[in-house]
Amino acid sequence: MRSPYRELQERAWAANQEIPRRGLAIYTFGNVSAFDAARGVMAIKPSGVEYEKLAVEDLVVLDLSGRVVEGKLRPSSDAPTHLVLYRAWKGMGGVVHTHSTYASGWAQARLAIPIYGTTHADHLAEDVPCTAVMSDEAVERDYEVETGNQILECFRGRNPLEVPMVLVAGHGPFTWGESPEKAIYNAAVLEELARMAFVTHTLDPSAARLPDRLIRKHYQRKHGKNAYYGQK
Ligand SMILES: [Zn+2]
Repeated sequence: MRSPYRELQERAWAANQEIPRRGLAIYTFGNVSAFDAARGVMAIKPSGVEYEKLAVEDLVVLDLSGRVVEGKLRPSSDAPTHLVLYRAWKGMGGVVHTHSTYASGWAQARLAIPIYGTTHADHLAEDVPCTAVMSDEAVERDYEVETGNQILECFRGRNPLEVPMVLVAGHGPFTWGESPEKAIYNAAVLEELARMAFVTHTLDPSAARLPDRLIRKHYQRKHGKNAYYGQK
């Protein structure tokens, strides 16, 4: 019998295949979930299964409390982090976690990625934030949930749909979006921004941030009611 969650699993499957295709992780590193807000369920990659061996029915469907409602495999160990974000933020359709090299490099240096250029400003109008380092007590308490809480803490006063990405200090990037497709797009964009910023910072460690006027111009070309980039 066809699963009632088949379409959600298919979208999560396809988005997970983008991780190796975009060079965002080796082996089984990384995971994507797709969220159905109306039904309050997410489909996520199973733990430790390689991308080329992943079948659509392997995607594990969980409700917002973390209970498995479909699937025989164990969900990604990062599933509790994804659930924290879906529970907290409206308008979410997908979450991605990778250990992509340049974004993880900035995360390991515990540095936000400075908004050096217009490529960055086309996607978000501020530095890519970096969380605080997790305390020993939080690591012991419930590591994956606390990773989500760290992200929420970092996003106090920020709009997660305007800043759809974060670096978790000492660890790596999480990105999200209104769909799983948008979330994986943001993961690939973040890696490219991180790579460009690394080159800029290497050439000139005191390189200036893009002036505010250029940031606003580039961000607003693609976002908001006066956007005019692309085709109607
Ligand atoms: Zn990780």
